[in-house]
Amino acid sequence: MISADRFHSALDLSLPDRVPLFYQHLGAAKWVLQSTGLRMHDGFHDPEIFSRISMAAYDLYGFDNVMAGWGDIMVEAQAHGMTWRFPERDFYPRVDEYVPMSDIDKIHAVDPMDDRFWSVPIEAAEIMTKRYRGEVPVIGCINAPMLIASEIIGLEHLLMGCLTEPSAVDHVLSAVTESSEAYGERISDIGLEDVFIENGTAGNELMDLDTYERFDRKYLRIGADSFHQKGLRTIIHNCSAEPFWKSQSEIGPTAIHLNLRFVRMEEITSDLKSNVAFIAGIDHTDLLLNGTREDIDKSVRETMAAWDGDPGLIIGPGCEFPYKTPRENILALKECTIEHGTYL
Ligand SMILES: [Zn+2]
Repeated sequence: MISADRFHSALDLSLPDRVPLFYQHLGAAKWVLQSTGLRMHDGFHDPEIFSRISMAAYDLYGFDNVMAGWGDIMVEAQAHGMTWRFPERDFYPRVDEYVPMSDIDKIHAVDPMDDRFWSVPIEAAEIMTKRYRGEVPVIGCINAPMLIASEIIGLEHLLMGCLTEPSAVDHVLSAVTESSEAYGERISDIGLEDVFIENGTAGNELMDLDTYERFDRKYLRIGADSFHQKGLRTIIHNCSAEPFWKSQSEIGPTAIHLNLRFVRMEEITSDLKSNVAFIAGIDHTDLLLNGTREDIDKSVRETMAAWDGDPGLIIGPGCEFPYKTPRENILALKECTIEHGTYL
């Protein structure tokens, strides 16, 4: 079975030949950049270089997808007026200046293709789609509206705004959601079938459930509905420590992706199985970074045992592999998944 069919059958809740492996963003970037001699900084500026780096990750690690978006979480925000800078050639950009609260009414929706940087991963996706011709799924990638807003005006201002200036927050979230819908249009036009949505703000450590549903989820749902209308499958990612995954599942995503360190697999299986696909995130913060092959093998085996051979399971890291994750641990994750996750 080719990766595209394997990945899509799991998302569509039918049984592939084995459990697919999900690669997120530009995980374990150090080895990818080393193998190409290319610079992350240049990838942000040039779709050809972006695509060569992303494809190198596939060649190097051999998971079942490539990703048209990296883990900077800022590319949409800078298209809406926040400014960033590149202090390092081989790491993600950093915030230079947020949009001040006094200018919040000037924030408006944009077409990603009109932005110098946001257009880059979309053009790179088109290059990758042509290269792989359906063999490997090229996954679109966007941050949820609340996360984009937090990078435009700053997280503290956003959370305070939910309490003191809800209409201003609604204004920003509406604008950003409109831009997200335009993004969905663009990626479906070039033939992408799936979109990964980073919604790591959906956690009790950041806000209470009511605030989440009133602001964050409200706009996430509008964006997700619009993606679904265009025929895109949605993967909602949430690596927060106290994730509101049940609330997220109510908006009907194709898949949910969580860090197993923070959830109980029994609860996940009883709630999601046969309704929503699940990307089980093997803990990347400690286990994949510092653990042994035996530790990784145990985690993969336990996860698969809990899902009990049913359709809809994908294995990946809990979030983007840290920059220097040992290559042998990435290989161990892949080999253990193949060893234990092959269906007869
Ligand atoms: Zn994450």
